[in-house]
Order: sequence, then C-alpha cells, then structure tokens
Amino acid sequence: MTDALLRDCPYCRRVDAVADPRDPEIVVCPDCGFYRLRERLAPAAQRRFLQDYNDGIKLEEIPSPSTWTARCRGEIAQLRRSCPGVFPGGRVLDVGSGTGYFLSALREAGARPSGIEPAARLVGMVRAAGLDARQGFFEPGNMGGLDQERFDLVAARECVYYFADLKAFFATLRGILRPTGYFYLRSHQPKSCFYWGRPRGRLERYGRYVQGMATPAAMKGMLEREGFEVVAFDYFPHRVLYFCGVDSPVVKPVDVVLSWALRPILKRLAALNWFWMVARPAPGEKRGPAA
Ligand SMILES: [Zn+2]
Repeated sequence: MTDALLRDCPYCRRVDAVADPRDPEIVVCPDCGFYRLRERLAPAAQRRFLQDYNDGIKLEEIPSPSTWTARCRGEIAQLRRSCPGVFPGGRVLDVGSGTGYFLSALREAGARPSGIEPAARLVGMVRAAGLDARQGFFEPGNMGGLDQERFDLVAARECVYYFADLKAFFATLRGILRPTGYFYLRSHQPKSCFYWGRPRGRLERYGRYVQGMATPAAMKGMLEREGFEVVAFDYFPHRVLYFCGVDSPVVKPVDVVLSWALRPILKRLAALNWFWMVARPAPGEKRGPAA
C-alpha cells in the first residue's frame, strides 16, 4: 500500500541506519550521511499532508511577490558571481517557487525565470502578479511543460528535503539542465534549530512531512556521485535586521553596515541552520541532457 511508512534512505535506499543520540526517532544513513525520521512518509501520504498544509494558507496574508525582492539581492549577487553567463537573459527554473518572490528577484536581475510549484493556489497568485509559475511537481511529465525546456540555472531553495526519491530528483535535474548550466541549492540542515526545536514544529514544517535533511557534506557527496562538482559553498549572507526577525523588505543603510560589521558572527549563527551551494555538471561527465 502506498501509505506504508518507509524505512529506507531517500537517496541510497539503504535501510539500516544509526540512531541520532539527540532523538532516537531520527537516524543517519551510514552510506550517504542523510538524516531522516526512522519512519518517513510515503509519497502519497506526504502529498496529502502538503495539500492540507497548502489549503490552509491564508492567501490574503501573503505579500505580493515583489515585496521581498530586495531581500534577495544579496543572494542574487552571489549567484551572479557563482554562475557566470546566467545573468542577464538566462533561463532559470525555481523549484518550489511558492509565493514567487524569488521569481520576482530573478526577473529583476534580468533572468527569464519560471517556477514549478505543487500548491495551485500559490501558482494562481503568482501568475496573477505577472510571473510564470506552473502547477506540478519536479518530475518528468508533471511540470506543466517545463520539462521540455533546458535551463541555464535550476534553483532549489528550501525544498530538496521534500523529495521522497533523491535519485529521481537528480535524474530530473540532469534532464533539464544544460551541460553548461548550474544547480543552486539552499537548505536547512540537520543541526538547524528549526529542525530540532519542537515548538517551531520539527514534526511539521521541517519534520514529519520532509523526507530528511542533508548536511552540507552529505549533499556535496550526493552531488558528486550524481556527476556534479560543487563550485561554491557558503552559509548565506545575512542582514542583521532580517536575522533578528525585523520585517524589513527595504534594505536600510544601517542594516548593510551592521551586516558587514557583524558578518563573522552572523555567518557562525547562520551556519547552525542553513547552507547554500552551487554545482555544475563535472567536466567530462556524459550525463547531460540528450537534447
Ligand atoms: Zn543513504
């Protein structure tokens, strides 16, 4: 039955695992280092869980996609440095485009972005704002036609941990990425307080309905096994006011100064929770798309 809980690793399918001393419900794959719940949701059950979550989103409380564009400028600047040739004009896919703010930032930077997003209501909102998002899943035949295209950059921000089959994820990625293209990953990681902190919903937002969490080392290992090389890796640039939870879509000079002055401390704090990396098909790899 498709609803049976799964006990294997979403990447290497190995079943045996080492319990994490902090919580015996969480185990680590001895092969690829991926963290997961001892019993993870099967894809059908996970999709229902996500559907219910998405149905509960109050659209009227979500700001328009352009509201947060300014927040992404540091991230976009980093991508410009790490992915030469993509800006301007490059075709970009945002996997799990959500409320569309990264699509908006990509468009502002001169790229040609499209998003793929399971939540139909969010897709409708994003399209109403004049951006291109398609309802579907990141899998061939279910991407609203985007799987017929080839992309210069595929961004997966805070979503890789939803994928029940990471081999399939990487196969889809290789299929739509140009041989000269880049893959940008941004993710929480297993030591994140958001993952462990029950009040913040380990069993919800980052717990029960995710399939697991990769450490930076585990993700780098998976990418290399899948024929990619990591060309940039860091903990992402932070703005102090944002980090402190001040809702400030407009970048203020004081924020820039504080961020620069406190960057070593902020990076340490950020490293507890998040990481990002940019990878590209390794030279000599023959796994690029046929078309
Ligand atoms: Zn594994």
